[in-house]
Amino acid sequence: MPPLTDSFGRTIEYVRLSVTDRCDLRCVYCMPKGFNDFQEPDNWLTFDEIERVIAAFAQLGVQRLRITGGEPLVRRGLPDLAARLAAIPGITDLSLSTNAVQLEKHAAALRRAGVTRLNVSLDTLDPVRFKEITGGPLDKVIAGLLAAKAAGFAPVKINMVVMKGVNDDEVEAMVAFCIEHDFTLRFIETMPVGETGRDASEHFLDLAEVRARLERRYTLLPAKVSGGGPARYVRVEGTELRIGFITPMSQHFCETCNRVRLAVDGTLYLCLGQDHAVELRPLLRAGAGAAELRDAILKAIELKPMKHEFREHPGQVVRFMSMTGG
Ligand code: SAM
Repeated sequence: MPPLTDSFGRTIEYVRLSVTDRCDLRCVYCMPKGFNDFQEPDNWLTFDEIERVIAAFAQLGVQRLRITGGEPLVRRGLPDLAARLAAIPGITDLSLSTNAVQLEKHAAALRRAGVTRLNVSLDTLDPVRFKEITGGPLDKVIAGLLAAKAAGFAPVKINMVVMKGVNDDEVEAMVAFCIEHDFTLRFIETMPVGETGRDASEHFLDLAEVRARLERRYTLLPAKVSGGGPARYVRVEGTELRIGFITPMSQHFCETCNRVRLAVDGTLYLCLGQDHAVELRPLLRAGAGAAELRDAILKAIELKPMKHEFREHPGQVVRFMSMTGG
């Protein structure tokens, strides 16, 4: 079967699968405090449905799968689901994005299930600031990170959304932390996704500034890191630390976009920054077979837009990051 290719000639080989839109944190740029308007459990794809749809993607050449949310570890039985997904023929790279609040108790089971790579969100190393940004406990996250290291995840990548006047004074501290623990560090620009993301965009910081700051202190060498994503990496000379810059705003990477996002209710979003979407749940619940699912996916991919318009139309995406699957 030819690879899954969109109308702009991009090969789609990466699915981000949201297993819940719920989260045990309330990061200021993501979900509003007190937000409660979640998908009904009846609308959540079951593990069987998820397995069927991911198998159809794999038959179309998708090899990389990232489990995300909301917070994926709040979905009960997640390691069991991970094991089922890892066993799908064609899926060669299974990774997970988490806030790590509940990672300590699940790390070993996830590793055994076949998850090989972990991304952990961590915007600050200061417990008081962590509470302000996320509403949650930093010590649990650190315990989760150490458990992930002990369980053999490699690499563990730390994702830090860098916000001017909020946590940009911690860039160097995060570099030191990642050198100490052998984590990979990625800096991310704030995106105007949902009202929260737009409000947080007043703290937007162009990562070129962060890079320039680091270059005054370290020698940064070009580097490569495994993963299907858009980060541009450097290595800090004299260390093993890789630093990735994810710049959806200052330097978008839509022309190399290789991904689609499946929300917990079976909505297939073709772009994080646009509303193009196709509902796969009705098809799954009507008992569609593999061929029918593949056809629906092929048709959906034709709708994938050329690029996001975060800069041109920052008010466009009303759903929060946690709904789409970050
Ligand atoms: N709960 C998991 C986690 O914390 O990684 C997975 C979902 S979370 C929505 C995925 C990523 O999206 C996190 O790294 C988070 O920092 C990022 N994110 C959410 N809203 C964002 C925004 N408005 N701009 C930039 N990144 C955002």
